Amino acid sequence: MPARRGQRPSPNGKANGDSVLARLAEALFVLRTSPDLGALVDTVAAAVRSTLHAKESHVFLIEERTGAVRPWDAGRAGPGEAFLPMPNAALESTLRSEEPLFVAAPSADLPALEHSLGGKRAGAFFCMPLRARGTLDGVWVATFGGSKAFTAADRLAAHLLADALALGLERSRSDRFLAERALAAQRLEARAEEGEGLLGQMLSVVAHEMRTPLTCIKAYAETLIDAPADEWESRAPFLEIINEECDRLGRLLMNALDYSRLESGQKSFHLTTLKPEDLVTDALLTMAPEGKRRKVEVSAHVPETFGTVEGDLDLLKQLCLNLVSNAIKFSPEPGQVEVVVSGDEEGWRLEVMDRGPGIPEDQAERIFERFYRVEQEGRRVPGSGLGLAIARNITELHGGRIVVTPRAGGGSVFTVTLPRVQRAPDEACQLAAELWERRDCLRLLDDAVALASEALEAQIVSLMLVDPQRGDLKMAAALGLDESALKRRVGFRGGVGGQALAQAAPVLVNDIETDPRFRRPNHPQYSTKSLICVPLIVAGRSIGVINVNNKRSREAFGEADLALLANLVDRVCSAVERSLAFPESPESPAETMAALRASIHLREDLALGQRPAGAVAYGLARRLGANAEEARLLSRLAGGVDLESVEAETEAKPSRKRDGRAPVLGSVRDILLGRSERWDGKGVPRGLAGEAIPLGARILSAVDLLHDLTHGSPHRQAVPAAFALEEMERLSGSRLDPRVQAAVTDLLADEVGERRAGRGRREAA
Ligand code: ADP
Repeated sequence: MPARRGQRPSPNGKANGDSVLARLAEALFVLRTSPDLGALVDTVAAAVRSTLHAKESHVFLIEERTGAVRPWDAGRAGPGEAFLPMPNAALESTLRSEEPLFVAAPSADLPALEHSLGGKRAGAFFCMPLRARGTLDGVWVATFGGSKAFTAADRLAAHLLADALALGLERSRSDRFLAERALAAQRLEARAEEGEGLLGQMLSVVAHEMRTPLTCIKAYAETLIDAPADEWESRAPFLEIINEECDRLGRLLMNALDYSRLESGQKSFHLTTLKPEDLVTDALLTMAPEGKRRKVEVSAHVPETFGTVEGDLDLLKQLCLNLVSNAIKFSPEPGQVEVVVSGDEEGWRLEVMDRGPGIPEDQAERIFERFYRVEQEGRRVPGSGLGLAIARNITELHGGRIVVTPRAGGGSVFTVTLPRVQRAPDEACQLAAELWERRDCLRLLDDAVALASEALEAQIVSLMLVDPQRGDLKMAAALGLDESALKRRVGFRGGVGGQALAQAAPVLVNDIETDPRFRRPNHPQYSTKSLICVPLIVAGRSIGVINVNNKRSREAFGEADLALLANLVDRVCSAVERSLAFPESPESPAETMAALRASIHLREDLALGQRPAGAVAYGLARRLGANAEEARLLSRLAGGVDLESVEAETEAKPSRKRDGRAPVLGSVRDILLGRSERWDGKGVPRGLAGEAIPLGARILSAVDLLHDLTHGSPHRQAVPAAFALEEMERLSGSRLDPRVQAAVTDLLADEVGERRAGRGRREAA
């Protein structure tokens, strides 16, 4: 603890140093161990009152997506309403600079406290950024009754409490993250187990169902073989039975196959406009022989002027077929089955009615589960129990519903209700309507398209948004497309884009012609068959998609491209979300774009920015004379543990020779303690200056700064590596050790140079 004995950190001089120290130590202990956010907030409030005699203490947590803050006052059970901090007032400037702000007395030269916290009438106050492991989680504000000259010890106490609070917030964030990961892993495991279980169940059901037809086929085939050669007429019925049993086997296998394809999402959706009449005619035609054999007459009623609907023709045919085939199967002999199509402008209905045994009411839901078969008089009906599960799957893929109800006079009615056209959900349409009204946001989308084309080196990029009236996708911004293509629309669930939209999941296509999900001829305007499509998710709703085609190199897009695009889209969407939620937001979408452009500007910059801080620290330490062992230690102090260093460590041989260089970086304790010191002596906690700060600490503070500059936060724009180097040059001699700063420039310049040279070579080849 650097506060020297005898020095009195307390403002009024009454509390002696030891009791302040004891209170601080107690508070730090609680902050370090409490898993509860409310307890953290209360502890820090009590500590700042008892040690520094503050009047009030407020914690503000940042919302990652919008950059708004939520106040959390001591004694409250949770955070309050989110709001956007006022530009240039105390909160916002602390968020932007990420530097502590101590104001001894309100003055025109310093940021004022926001109105809600007392505004200009307030006395002294301080705002501490709450950051740990490179992430800013919030700001802590303490206000005082009158003016107050903050002593070095006061500042140190505020720093200590803020650090401990930030660590507590970070811990609670990591805990949440870990819990989410654990849950996701559990779900994945459960799904894998379910998949295995499904496979086993499927095999046993199929094998069981195959036994009867196979026995039957075998028996009749043997009879035929043994029959005298001249009795031709008597063979016909046997052959007919063999033929039917073969059909039954075929249907069984098709059902099993279709079901697993639908379940695993391998079956894609081909959106077309179709006439319900065609579905019904087709099903009736297919089932005619079976109907005849069972003496069941099937009749259809479709209004003549019914018009068209949207859906996947093959899937809807199969849905219809499964219902009609069940109706025939369960009808008495002779019997009648009726198929009725009806509807209005919004939706349409398909009803299949029979005079069979009906479905017991308590099983009306369950018959749509896979493998489920009704039990009647203690016996299970033969079959795989997959037909209705497939029917339900197809119905839901179309955004519809399927139910079974008893038919008056006996039998069942299966009713499928479907929308006439496939359209985005109402909530997505409402959000899209707001977005179409916002010119600034639309301009942001334009820029995003240009940026995507640049970052992914793609010739064609288009961005489509939900049309609030029609519920399909309409072009909002495009690059590299001709006039006619700009008018193109894509249906909800239609094409690659419509599916990415409906499933709210990105799609990477290697070859559109061979990809089993799509298998469609490549459109002539695209010279490559690979594309990426990422949905735009704003406030949890999928409201559009961005499509990227034609990589300049003509190579296929890969996972790295997808990750880059997803990252860009996510940032654009958070900016849109922020603009829609806080229309008065001072940061315009244009500014967001500038920040985005800066941070994604060039691929090599992006790669540099993402370089683990540990690796940069290692490189700098080596350049400044540290041996490998020391440099590795510093790398760990800089970036926590990164995979590379763990690998290097596990491979390292214990008997490696030392290179004879003397340690230069300083002790671990001194390095960590000196991380926030400044070359000019204005840092914390000890106010050391120049060479008095251990070299390791000087390196770490440069690494931290570089990381901050190239990463950005909702309140601070990230800059490309080249700008970051300029900014660091500016701070050389004040915040940074000039020698360390020069080493940073050398290190990164070398790397940028190497990368550019590498790219030049590739392009020349
Ligand atoms: P499968 O593919 O074996 O025919 P389904 O999933 O189509 O199985 O049907 C599940 C169960 O629902 C059937 O085993 C039967 O008990 C019942 N069921 C289906 N359709 C009808 C119907 N039209 N009338 C009476 N019961 C039916």
